Amino acid sequence: MTEKSVILKRGKEESLQRFHPWIFSGAIHHIEGKPEEGDVVTVYTAERKFIARGHVQVGSIAVRVLTFDDEPITDEFWYKRIATAYHLRTSIGIAGTPTNDTYRLVHGEGDNLPGLVIDIYGDTAVMQAHSVGMHVNRHIIAKAVKETLGEGLKNIYYKSDTTLPYKADINKDNGYLYGGNAGNVSTEYGLKFHIDWLRGQKTGFFVDQRENRSLLEKYAKGRKLLNMFCYTGGFSIYALRGGAELVHSVDSSAKAIDLTNANVAINFPDDTRHAAYAEDAFDYLERMGNNYDLIILDPPAFAKHRDSLRNALIGYRRLNAKAIEKIQPGGILFTFSCSQVVSKENFRTAVFTAAAIAKRKVRILHQLTQPADHPVNIYHPEGEYLKGLVLYVE
Ligand code: SAH
Repeated sequence: MTEKSVILKRGKEESLQRFHPWIFSGAIHHIEGKPEEGDVVTVYTAERKFIARGHVQVGSIAVRVLTFDDEPITDEFWYKRIATAYHLRTSIGIAGTPTNDTYRLVHGEGDNLPGLVIDIYGDTAVMQAHSVGMHVNRHIIAKAVKETLGEGLKNIYYKSDTTLPYKADINKDNGYLYGGNAGNVSTEYGLKFHIDWLRGQKTGFFVDQRENRSLLEKYAKGRKLLNMFCYTGGFSIYALRGGAELVHSVDSSAKAIDLTNANVAINFPDDTRHAAYAEDAFDYLERMGNNYDLIILDPPAFAKHRDSLRNALIGYRRLNAKAIEKIQPGGILFTFSCSQVVSKENFRTAVFTAAAIAKRKVRILHQLTQPADHPVNIYHPEGEYLKGLVLYVE
């Protein structure tokens, strides 16, 4: 049997020598052994030298590299990778602490596992495959997660119906790979959150804002706060603990508002400082007064692809201009973009233009990004997606 392999065009191994984990279809000379989407292939240079091994897929990214070493992709391989990811999280104090059991265990390329995301919520892991290769390996990955986390892990929920290539002809139903009798409350820095992985967005929670929510807590004391695009109310709950005078949470989704109210209720029952409204962001910002002195803007990705970049930047500019215009003098704005295609510079320029439109004096206090459990592979800078600015508005 011919080995399933990909032979590169002459000179096209350069990015792989720099450990970039993607091989674009244009770099391929030919494919041998008739691999199917999701199979492991060995990648050779035009001179037939081993250069990588990875999952083959249909589309412009033709191979996602699993290893640059000439090692087989065995069960042992998955165990090692998952254990390494877990070890990183425990060694930096994010996992395995009494006050926090909400974290990202695997962040795709950032953990040398392109196409795989695993978030941990208490005793449940929620796993998401973005490639057919990870889908094919889901059971061995689940076993490795179970083995690595041990007794503390009771459920593994697989949720990939929206993240797998929609044309792939595979059984991609969501469901439990292990357990199934899950409670759904997890703890983030001592605060409780209901996580709805069955119906919620992504894996159910935006784990990536943890450190930024924690920073917000320090600024909340005595302030009147607007948490725009609140989803599960994460920022609002931290603000209440931080001693905010008033917290308003806004999201266009009624389900998000219910989740926010439920999360306020388990942490601060009957707290009259909080109110939540289901309303469109632009409508709300238009009609609200200028009472708030701390505003959070954490919108969904305005640009999912390069071709929508221009419109996305206009969106960020409009949104930020309204908030900067209306915030109290001496107010603080936490503003974010999670669009991968919007660079740090793009985003900063959009916010800078917004400040000029609003005719306010603005200073940057912090420049924020994603937390350490969402590591960026230095050879894959595309993995840096979350950008935030904390602004002081005079
Ligand atoms: N800040 C949140 C995550 C926000 S996700 C956290 O810390 O977890 C983005 C949210 O924006 C989603 O809940 C979505 O329902 C909401 N949203 C999308 N478009 C909106 C709009 N036009 N107006 C208000 N909310 C919107």
